[in-house]
Amino acid sequence: MFDKILIANRGEIALRILRAAKELGIATVAVHSTADADAMHVRLADESVCIGPPAARDSYLNIPSIIAACEITGADAVHPGYGFLSENARFAEVLAHHEIGFIGPKAEHIRTMGDKIEAKRTAKRLGIPCVPGSEGGVEDPDEAKRIAAEIGYPVLVKAASGGGGRGMKVARTEADLEQAIGMARSEAKAAFGDDAVYLEKYLEKPRHIEVQILGDGRGNAVHLAERDCSLQRRHQKVWEEGGSPALNETMRAEIGAICANAMKELSYLGAGTIEFLYEDGKFYFIEMNTRIQVEHPVTEMITGIDLVNEQIRVAAGGPLSVSQEDIKVEGHAIECRINAEHPATFRPSPGLITYFHPPGGLGVRVDSAAFQGYRIPPNYDSLIGKLIVHGRTRNECLMRLRRALDEFVVDGVDTTLPLFRTLVRNPDVQNGSYDIHWLESFLATSGLDA
Ligand code: ADP
Repeated sequence: MFDKILIANRGEIALRILRAAKELGIATVAVHSTADADAMHVRLADESVCIGPPAARDSYLNIPSIIAACEITGADAVHPGYGFLSENARFAEVLAHHEIGFIGPKAEHIRTMGDKIEAKRTAKRLGIPCVPGSEGGVEDPDEAKRIAAEIGYPVLVKAASGGGGRGMKVARTEADLEQAIGMARSEAKAAFGDDAVYLEKYLEKPRHIEVQILGDGRGNAVHLAERDCSLQRRHQKVWEEGGSPALNETMRAEIGAICANAMKELSYLGAGTIEFLYEDGKFYFIEMNTRIQVEHPVTEMITGIDLVNEQIRVAAGGPLSVSQEDIKVEGHAIECRINAEHPATFRPSPGLITYFHPPGGLGVRVDSAAFQGYRIPPNYDSLIGKLIVHGRTRNECLMRLRRALDEFVVDGVDTTLPLFRTLVRNPDVQNGSYDIHWLESFLATSGLDA
């Protein structure tokens, strides 16, 4: 096992990792930018090192500074959290070169899954169902028209290096296709410096359902059921729940087994998420995230398994603590991402938190690094906390969530709490009948910003 872990992240996820390390009796090192000198992760870690100025590229993305911090403190492993360097294969390789452990997957798997065309090819080879589309990139407009006719309109033109929903264009007819390809190419070139694009069938009303997996890197892997993250705004998840209101136990076991078997074949190491669109009873792979995700507590609440603890164990060469038979889904969990943003315009609202009172009680978990007197810096994302609620049934979970949201007080900055108070009372949300477009159409007509 590792003796000392350096956490190359900030905010609530840095605290989450600290907690897992402490429970395992492992010493912790926080790194921070000058903007985060007073942050909670710095206060709670055993040691801390300042790694640079506020801009992320000079601090949390600064590989030489992070390696130096490991050497100064004698940390023998790094946990990257999510975002920042978590899906940077080169970072994993540089750490290996310095004989420092990386608490994450093998570099080759990060690289494969980071390229969408390669990821899809790999998923297909491993028996994971994919969205019908082109085999690899498309170059020539006539070839694109032929492929689009085969898969049927509407089609989606996607950038191979895409991320955050950029470089994606829908073509509803053959007449739109050439223009959609041109637009996707130039957007992708500008955003990612790579204009490779591919085609996919455009699904009109899918849900976003993802499967959590864990692997020991030596051919053993398990799945921990699914999360439904269909409530999204601009392709950003807002509300996540597990299990999905759209699946029953048989469907869950089926898609879970497909994912676990694929990860066994890959000898995947650590935690990962296989993301699907789901429509008319069918799953379509869209991408794999090779890291812990923001919404991982949903899975922890319904399985009782500490995912970060498992990540650390397997990164140190140990076995998973559970087998597939040990993993049972109990009850239902929902997570709300509380952002320091205006609840209707979503304008970021950094600044001083003058009062902070998180909810409590049975089945309520708050993962947050915020506190009364904390000044949210303007330099990073606006997530200030996650409220995760568990109940024996989805209904109990919704009732408890409504109560917990009413209890939650954050003063001094705008937050998305009022949006969640509205959502939890909405009949479509209560029935679980929503797809990936539901939230945006709701926001357009809700009058929340009036
Ligand atoms: P990114 O890496 O840019 O987030 P993804 O491939 O994960 O790209 O897709 C982001 C979002 O775009 C999905 O969550 C979904 O809302 C939408 N999307 C992607 N592929 C399709 C598709 N074939 N049909 C319909 N919507 C899609």
